[in-house]
Amino acid sequence: MIKNIIFLAPPASGKGTQAKLLKDKYNMCHISTGDLLREACSRDDEFGENLKRIMQSGNLVDDSIVLELLKKKVMENLDSGFILDGFPRNVNQALALDELLKEINKKIDYVLYLNVPKNVLQKRITGRRLCKICGKIYNIYQDNISLCTCGGELYQRSDDNLESFENRYQEYIEKTQPLIDYYNKNGNLISIDGDNEVEQIFDQITSILNN
Ligand code: ADP
Repeated sequence: MIKNIIFLAPPASGKGTQAKLLKDKYNMCHISTGDLLREACSRDDEFGENLKRIMQSGNLVDDSIVLELLKKKVMENLDSGFILDGFPRNVNQALALDELLKEINKKIDYVLYLNVPKNVLQKRITGRRLCKICGKIYNIYQDNISLCTCGGELYQRSDDNLESFENRYQEYIEKTQPLIDYYNKNGNLISIDGDNEVEQIFDQITSILNN
């Protein structure tokens, strides 16, 4: 089964968690622009510092930087289905993605919109912890553990605080939410209730993909 999907969802909605589960089950390529940018941040120069500052504030990074990272990753993984997690985040990026897909003769099968209310997101943001080794995502309000199942230490992302969240959420409402309309018109948007158990959401997604 080679399918290409986009996760369209607000910050901390669980799209990263679902993307990782899908990647493992179907051997798909998980492309998280947030992860690609966090990697790029580790550059010890002005570019890295600048990027770090923008991401910590919760603003969107320049389209040209994100597009370059995305294209590189897509081109390296042309043989597998891909999950776009965190991209596109505005209409300009969606248009650029359409161009890229045309060039490589691929299409998006589903745009999965994870719908989660703001008060739930706010709570998730402050409780989110990630494994330093495998990247697995936990929430201290639900998961009663201090180490990852792989033995890795857990850490909190520097932009997972309430101030940065407000900004990220505002960016989402202004720039990303219009994509719901954009993909509704393309006819492949599916809305999923994201205020649910991880397993329940995953079951719903797999039954959509198996159709
Ligand atoms: P979340 O969805 O939980 O906010 P991400 O890891 O997807 O987290 O993104 C973290 C940050 O990376 C964003 O707040 C933004 O600064 C930057 N970013 C990620 N993807 C994009 C994108 N497609 N365009 C612009 N900036 C992005």
